[in-house]
Formats: sequence, C-alpha cells, structure tokens
Amino acid sequence: MGLEDVVVTPLDPERLRAVLTPDALAAFEHTLTRGRELLQSRTLWNVNSTAYGGGVAEMLRSLIGYARGGGVDARWVAITGDAEFFRITKRLHNRLHGHEGDGGPLGEAERAAYERCCAANAELMAKRVRPADVVLLHDPQTAGMIPRLLQTGVPVVWRAHVGIDPPNDLAREAWRFLIPYVEQADAYVFSQPDYIWEGLDPAKLTVIAPSIDAFSPKNHAMAFTSVIAVLRAAGLAADRHHHYPRAVFERLDGTVGRVESKARLVEEGQLWLGVPLLAQVSRWDRLKDPLGVLAAFAEHVHADDEPHLVLAGPDVTAVADDPEGEEVFAEVEAAWSELPRRIRRRVHLALLPMVDADENAVIVNALQRRADVVAQKSLAEGFGLTVSEAMWKGRPVVASRIGGIREQIEDGRTGFLVDPGDLRTFGERVSGLLNDPHDAERMGAAAQTRVRDLFLGPRHLGQYVELLESVLSGRA
Ligand code: UDP
Repeated sequence: MGLEDVVVTPLDPERLRAVLTPDALAAFEHTLTRGRELLQSRTLWNVNSTAYGGGVAEMLRSLIGYARGGGVDARWVAITGDAEFFRITKRLHNRLHGHEGDGGPLGEAERAAYERCCAANAELMAKRVRPADVVLLHDPQTAGMIPRLLQTGVPVVWRAHVGIDPPNDLAREAWRFLIPYVEQADAYVFSQPDYIWEGLDPAKLTVIAPSIDAFSPKNHAMAFTSVIAVLRAAGLAADRHHHYPRAVFERLDGTVGRVESKARLVEEGQLWLGVPLLAQVSRWDRLKDPLGVLAAFAEHVHADDEPHLVLAGPDVTAVADDPEGEEVFAEVEAAWSELPRRIRRRVHLALLPMVDADENAVIVNALQRRADVVAQKSLAEGFGLTVSEAMWKGRPVVASRIGGIREQIEDGRTGFLVDPGDLRTFGERVSGLLNDPHDAERMGAAAQTRVRDLFLGPRHLGQYVELLESVLSGRA
C-alpha cells in the first residue's frame, strides 16, 4: 500500500486562447484571474485510482497541467488497493452504470473490505493535506476516504464520472453502498443533471460536463504524413511505399517524442492504408460492447469497398484498476476467431502499447484521424470522451443513444445516435457514411464545431473555479 504521486507537466493555459471565440476568451480571462486568487496559498489535491487508462486519467492530466501552468499548486495522487478492493470497486462501477458486472454481493463483508482499503489510503492522505487546501476525490474508489479527510478540516469535493439515466435497482444498490460517505462531502459533482442520486442534497450538487484537451498528443492537429508515419510505426498501416518520415510527435510537455512501440495485433493480414475503416477505441470492458460492434459489423455493414474494422484498446496487462480487461479481450478474440473467414480477414484487434502515455495517445489520435467512421457502441457511458475526441478530429461518429453520448451528438447533424440493441440501424448508419464521403465530411465538420463550443478545457476550468469559489466561501 502507498500513494503514488503522479507527475504532471505544467501546461501553459495561454495556448487555450487559440481555440476560443471572443466571448469565450473573456470568460477564460476571468477564470485565470479568479483561479489564481482563490488558490494562491492552497494546494489543490486530486485523488483517483489510476494514472493511466480511461477518461478520468486523461482529463486529470490536462486539467491539472493547465492549473499548474497557471501558477496553482495542483497535484495528483493515485491510491492503491488490493485485488479484492478493485473487484469491489469494479462491481460498484458496473452497478452505477446499471449493469450487474460480476454478479457478486455488495454486503457487509464487501463494505468492510472497501473501508479497510479506503481508511489506509485516507490515513496516508491525511498526513499530507492542510486545512487550507482543497481535495477533489474522483469516482467510487475514493468515496470511502471522505469521512477521514474531513476530520483534518480540509474541504472535500467528490466527483462521479459515471452515471445512469434513468436509474435501475442495480444503480440504486451502488448508491446505497456509497451514499454514507458521499453525503458528507462539501460538494459533489456529476457530469449531467439526470445523474444525481436520490438521497443526496441538491444544494451541494454541481453539474460539470467533461472536456478534452485540444493540444494534447491525443487530440493535437496532425498532418496526413504524420498520421501515416505513426500508424506504420505502430503496425497499424501497411502499404507498398517505404520512404516515410519518422514517426515523431509533440509530447504533452512540448518535447519531441517518437513512436517506438508496436501494437499487439490479432489479425489475419495487415491493415492496408487504402481500405475504408470503421474504428472503435475503448478499454476492454463489456459496457463498451466490443462483441456488439463485431456482430453489427459482420452482419449489417454493407459498404461498397469492403470496409475494415479496428477494435483498439489498451494492452490488457497494463491498466491497474481494471481487473476484467484480460477476460473481456479473450472473449473478443474468441468471437473474432469464430467469424466467417471473409469477415475475419477485415477485422483487426489492436492492443495499444501503454509503456508511454504520450505514445499511446498519439497512436489513438492517428487511428481516430485515419478512420472514415468512428463507432462508440457502448451500453452505458457516463460521458464517453472518445466521442468528443473523434468529433474534434472532424470524424462522423455512430454511437449509442445512451448516457453522456446524447449530450455530445445531435442525431443526424453532428453524428448518429442508435439504440444500443439495434445492430441493423447501427450497420446502416455506418454503411451510409462509408458510401457517402461528402455527407460524412459535412457531419464531421459540424461535430468539430460542437466540441469547440461545448467540450474543451476552458469551459471546464471555468466551472471548477466557480465551484471552488462556492465551496471555499461556504467554509468561510
Ligand atoms: N484510451 C486510450 N487508449 C486506449 C483506449 C482508450 O488512450 O487504448 C482513452 C480514450 O482515448 C479516452 C479514454 O481512454 O480518452 C476513455 O475515456 P471514455 O470517457 O471514452 O471512457 P472510460 O474509459 O472512461 O469509460
């Protein structure tokens, strides 16, 4: 057991100006000034359970980076836990999404194991925080730390990055488990108004939608040649030419990186550059419905030029807080091997290297840009950052009409929404976009504007500053 201090590179918030409209720029000036005033003598602690993999880590890296670049002592600590703890928190995660997960109980024994681990982590944190600081805890893994941290006198905000609307009994079971801790926090943040749990105090609620960082390796602009060079270096693009620039890219800290690691691929033949491509990038999680994407692709995508499918996700051995990844990947691999050969040869399963977060990110960036259509066929999704990531790159996205995806895509204009069980319509939407590149391009351009207006960092930082203002004035 121990806490991990995640190293965060300071990022210059000034560069965010480049993506702002004049009105947004004025609001952002206010955010920067007010944020510095509020936090000049405090440390802003962020606590979650993994430094890599998944949307929360992705957002923390850039938001904390901009806060640090803006002169705030913002820090990121990742807690640790044993296998039992992560089994229980994965169960909570699944139930909060309305799904059963491994089907196990959330009773007194689980509560005792959960509290044991939270208490150990909270004890270590309690030694480090001062009452004048602020603590932001993220997701179910950290909720049990709230009571102990409050004893130190520090204000504590808890943020749920998952949610479900409408809730079912499985979600309520997870709420009941977590509410005794969460209700004590000074404030709680949900990603959508519909996600707030019954039994929590509405006066302490703030709604903040997630965001993406337009300048990170995951999303920064890439020239066509860089896209190809990165994909070739990662083993995700084959063609007959041999002279390509080296696969260099700008790291989050501004230095130059180079893609050195290859994806581990399950495929019958290499993915050629010229073929039309549908891609989904997700952790190996049943709620991302990789089997549904496979089935829909196999049965219902009938485009003119034999499209290919890439299902990409992190190398399953690397994500600390996701014990189901290997199992889910094995299921996907088994389903792949049972596809008829004429389909199987057009499906590629990619385990992306995780040794270097920036390298992983730029490979995702290139893959999303390479895809003609991006899928996010999840069964549940608190927000679904991959959707905004692909929209920002001007890609048309076909995604499930669930959770936070509904906030991002306006059906028929900035993407397509499909009911998650409707494989036929999913296939028709994908085929339609593959067959009509002009339509796809129009939709992609509208998608990019929507992300610029609603889902970039400055709006997110502004809402955090407002929240801290209200929490700190409440304490005063
Ligand atoms: N992601 C990644 N590499 C992968 C798979 C996913 O960097 O191999 C990223 C993805 O680009 C996105 C995040 O992980 O930034 C996933 O966030 P999302 O909100 O879509 O889903 P979550 O994993 O949080 O459920």
